[in-house]
Amino acid sequence: HLLTVQNLLELQAQTEAEEIMGANPVIGLLGGGQLGRMLCEAANPLGIDIAILDERNSPAKQAHETNRHVTGSFKDPARIRELASRSDYLSVEIEHVDTEVLEDIEKNGVDIELADGSTVTHRPPIHPSWRTLRLIQDKYLQKEHFRTSEQKIPIAEHMAIESGEATLDSLEEAADKFGFPFMLKARKGSYDGRGNFKVSSGKDIEPAINALGKLPLYAEKWAPFVKELAVMVIRTENDEGELTGCVAYPAVETIHEDSICTKVFMPPREVSDEVCEEARELACSVVSTLWGRGVFAVEMFLLEDNSLMVNEVAPRPHNSGHYTIEAIPAMSQYKAQIHAVLDLPIPKKLIPRVPAAIMLNILGGAAPNSHHKLTRLARSTYDDDMDVHLHLYGKESKPGRKIGHITLTGFSSLDELEQKAEPFIKLVDEIRQ
Ligand code: ATP
Ligand code: MG
Ligand code: MG
Repeated sequence: HLLTVQNLLELQAQTEAEEIMGANPVIGLLGGGQLGRMLCEAANPLGIDIAILDERNSPAKQAHETNRHVTGSFKDPARIRELASRSDYLSVEIEHVDTEVLEDIEKNGVDIELADGSTVTHRPPIHPSWRTLRLIQDKYLQKEHFRTSEQKIPIAEHMAIESGEATLDSLEEAADKFGFPFMLKARKGSYDGRGNFKVSSGKDIEPAINALGKLPLYAEKWAPFVKELAVMVIRTENDEGELTGCVAYPAVETIHEDSICTKVFMPPREVSDEVCEEARELACSVVSTLWGRGVFAVEMFLLEDNSLMVNEVAPRPHNSGHYTIEAIPAMSQYKAQIHAVLDLPIPKKLIPRVPAAIMLNILGGAAPNSHHKLTRLARSTYDDDMDVHLHLYGKESKPGRKIGHITLTGFSSLDELEQKAEPFIKLVDEIRQ
């Protein structure tokens, strides 16, 4: 077969484009917070380059040096396109990103200019899919997706709340339908419970409107849970978009105080192996209804009758999976994210190498140094029966802000680890007071 001049030019352009991209794969990451930072910590020894789109000196940029970082917002289409032009793949560490531009990049690609002034179209695969991100961004649509999916996913009853003039009537309707208390939630943009308002009685309706009323809202029936559980799932898919596997990490118990995650226990305390197994199966069936590759967190409520209810999904590494760095070191949630995005092998089973782990979030206290006693304790503890792993995120301390975490791993039971962990737990609780 003869190569036409056109073919030759295309081949040359392709080679040059590959040179621009470099030999090691580059993952462009929207968002450079602590999740991105820990992703970089997993990518660094693998020689995988992470190009981060976020502010200068963000936690993730501090952990990974490259000339491909982009300064700006992960909500800015122009900056996202710039990141795409420098990356072989795109991924996220936060779901609140501009999905219109991601959809456009998937469909039409971005133009890369070559040395000779010509351009080639570059289409970095995007994982997880913008479809998943767009759905998850709107908690009401996310709930509707689960309610109407074939998989029969148990969720709390919910209803959309009218905005503007009709908000009050709509909230009264929710109170009639669900009784008190019920949860009023912002549909979009919330994290760490910041868009939630617990409506405990008629007296709370006005404060609720004052707190959230300008945002699109929905109401959710109160879930009378005895515990909260979470399961991380690795979702794989071929390049045609067909699901090829869902592998679940162990179920963990998550403790939320004022709607923010403060502690994680692996395994969950006083929960049977059967329930943990059900939680993993449920998490896999939830994640199978979504699109794209990567790790996904499924947050759940465990009810008194031992049944499970799905709260929400995070389409990325998650606070409840930090423990995997030390408990499943060969395939932490961060390494799994890299493997999934790049379509590298994923283990069939994820078995912890320690029988027990406790993750404690370090939240900023009232004073900038409120957490120093705790970090000092973490740095100075060496114990034959408990390993102490301190992670600070390079963030300025502000009240309630996640600035680090400590993972404690134990070699016998969670019970014993919990006893050993007592001084740490005490200090963590003290910061919050
Ligand atoms: P994040 O994304 O940081 O997990 P978020 O802002 O998206 O948090 P949710 O996960 O919706 O918030 O809720 C935070 C916490 O509030 C839950 O973990 C749970 O403790 C409580 N909560 C949420 N919904 C309900 C409900 N329907 N009934 C009872 N408690 C709830
Ligand atoms: Mg959330
Ligand atoms: Mg949540």
